[in-house]
Amino acid sequence: MKPSLLDYTQKELIELIKPKFRVKQIYGWLYHQYAENFEDMKNIPKAMKEELTQKYVVNPLKIVNKEVSSDGTIKYLLELQDGKTMEAVWLKMKEQQVDCNGEITQEARYSICVSTQVGCKVGCSFCLTAKGGFTRDLTAGEIVAQVVTLKRDNNHKHNRKINIVYMGMGEPLDNLANLAKAIEIFKEEEGLAIGGKRQTVSTSGLSNQIDKLGAMDLGVHIAISLHAVDDELRTELIPMNKAHNIDSIIEAVKRFPIDTRKRVMFEYLVIKNKNDDLGSAKKLVKLLSDIKAKVNLIYFNPYPGTEYDRPERKDMVAFQEYLINHGLLCTIRDSKGIDISAACGQLKEKTEGEI
Ligand code: SF4
Repeated sequence: MKPSLLDYTQKELIELIKPKFRVKQIYGWLYHQYAENFEDMKNIPKAMKEELTQKYVVNPLKIVNKEVSSDGTIKYLLELQDGKTMEAVWLKMKEQQVDCNGEITQEARYSICVSTQVGCKVGCSFCLTAKGGFTRDLTAGEIVAQVVTLKRDNNHKHNRKINIVYMGMGEPLDNLANLAKAIEIFKEEEGLAIGGKRQTVSTSGLSNQIDKLGAMDLGVHIAISLHAVDDELRTELIPMNKAHNIDSIIEAVKRFPIDTRKRVMFEYLVIKNKNDDLGSAKKLVKLLSDIKAKVNLIYFNPYPGTEYDRPERKDMVAFQEYLINHGLLCTIRDSKGIDISAACGQLKEKTEGEI
C-alpha cells in the first residue's frame, strides 16, 4: 500500500517534496480542488507527477456504493487500497433557509460521520459494526480522505463550514495517533480549515485514552457513549466497561479540557425495558451532577437478529422530561438515515454479496 498525500501535514510535505511552492500548489489541489489523482494537478510538471506517482497515491479511497435516505442522509461504502471497505455518512443537519424574496439567508448545514477503523475491537452488544470483528486501524490519510471524498461528491466547496463527528466504524481513541494527526490536518488553515470546535470525538469510554486526548489539547469536543447508569448493564452493552467503568469515565471527563462555553455530550442509547425507566433517569442526573453536560437520547434501532427492542415514545419523552426538570439539557435524537442503517452502531463492513 502506498502512502497517500493526505497522510501528511503541510509541514511534512514541505520536507518530502521540493521546491516548497510546489507543495503549496499541491495542497490547493488536495483540499480546494479535491484532486483524486496526479493527472488532475494541471500546473504540476509532468516529470514531478511521474516521480510522485512512484511513491504516493493522492486519494486512497474509492466510492463503491452510495445509499440515499429519504431525509437526505447519504451512506457511502468506501474501498481502501487493500480492498477492505468501511463507511462514512453525509448528514444534513439544517435545511437551507430562504426569505420571502427567494434569497438564501442561510445555507444548509452538513456533518460528516467518519470511521477510524475497519471493524471495531470494543464489541458492543447492540452494534452491527462489532459483529464483523476488527480488521485494522485507518491511517490518518484514510480518515482525512473520507471528508475530502464526501465533500467532493456533494459539490461542497472547501470553505463551506462542515462538522466532523468521529462516530462511524471503530473506536476513535483506540487509534489515537492517527486520529490526532487527522484532526491536525483538518485544522490546517491552507487546507480545509475545520477548527477543533467543529470536530467531535465520540468514544465508548476508554478512560485512559480520554486523558491522553485531553493532554494533546486539540480543542475538540468529546461525546461519551454512556448508555447505562450502572456497571452491570453497561458491561452487558459494552464489555470493555469492565476495564473502564462508569466512575473512571466520569472522572476522566472532569479532567478533559473543555471550552467553558461548551458542554460534554453524553449519548444514551435507550433500549426498551433495559434502561428506559425513571429510576435510570434519576441515577443519570446524579452521575452528571458535577459536569456541564448535555444528554442525547437515542432510540435503539432494531436490526435483524438483535435481542433488544426500540423503546416506546412515551417512555422516551418521560425520561427526557425528568432530565430537563432536574436541570440537564436533553434532546431526543431522531436517528438520521434510519431507513438505510446509517444510524449510530449500524455501520458495518459489507461483503460484496450484501451491497
Ligand atoms: S458502538 Fe462503536 S465502539 Fe461499540 S462496537 Fe460499535 S463501533 Fe465499536
